Amino acid sequence: SMVRGQQDTPRLHGNSMEGQAPKPQPTQPRKKRPEDFRFGKILGEGSFSTVVLAKEHSTGKEYAIKILEKRHIMKENKAQYVKRERDIMSHLDHPFFVKLYFTFQDEEKLYFGLSYAKNGELLKYIRKIGSFDETCTRFYSAEIVCALEYLHQKGIIHRDLKPENVLLSEEMHIQITDFGTAKQLNEYLIFQKIIKLEYEFPEKFFPKAKDLVEQLLSLEPCKRIGCEEMGGYGPLKSHPFFETVGWDDIHLQTPPKLT
Ligand code: ATP
Repeated sequence: SMVRGQQDTPRLHGNSMEGQAPKPQPTQPRKKRPEDFRFGKILGEGSFSTVVLAKEHSTGKEYAIKILEKRHIMKENKAQYVKRERDIMSHLDHPFFVKLYFTFQDEEKLYFGLSYAKNGELLKYIRKIGSFDETCTRFYSAEIVCALEYLHQKGIIHRDLKPENVLLSEEMHIQITDFGTAKQLNEYLIFQKIIKLEYEFPEKFFPKAKDLVEQLLSLEPCKRIGCEEMGGYGPLKSHPFFETVGWDDIHLQTPPKLT
């Protein structure tokens, strides 16, 4: 299991057997340790984890370190979810996802070194602002589309995308997180509404966005805009709502100010 399996001893030179030409090995930096960091404020807490801001002494780099207690994980049978989260995150390399830079462990805990999403959850801004203007809506929904296009290309589905899991970087670009899916199915009643397609649009919903959402929320997966059967991401990105989006360098654009 991932809780026991890892070796945390430094591997400095790979395998240097005498009399044999040493095989060129991808140089792996040595495992980091808790002492390598100055731990700061708590960024948030999950049911199995605490995320703490940490500054690495040697580089001055800031990370959000997710700390999980092994005993708690084993007791609650969550080892497979923790492993899945780690495996998936270590395969992601895209500006719109929280990156897993390193992992290490000590006797009691597992440590995941994540990119620090300085501006926290998108939910916070939705609560603060109430609703985004059309420009901001378009920008952030476009970033989410780009992120999902990358993820789906890799054959990964998120399954729990929501404003709590869309974090924001210092520059206010999205950083999607939470690949544990260590969540229970939706509340039964919410689930019933989902399968009956029971939802309403607020009064002032941008008409083009409404059309887009209606095309996304088809009960039949193969009829949803953006899916393979409907022609993939091309038609989704060409939807009138996204008409003015410059897709190719969106991650380099200055995000519109959220007002
Ligand atoms: P649960 O496991 O109960 O579903 P969770 O997935 O939110 O909860 P964590 O991943 O431990 O649990 O995150 C706890 C909180 O820490 C999050 O709600 C988020 O606000 C914050 N957080 C997580 N990752 C980062 C990050 N990379 N940068 C900044 N804040 C983060």
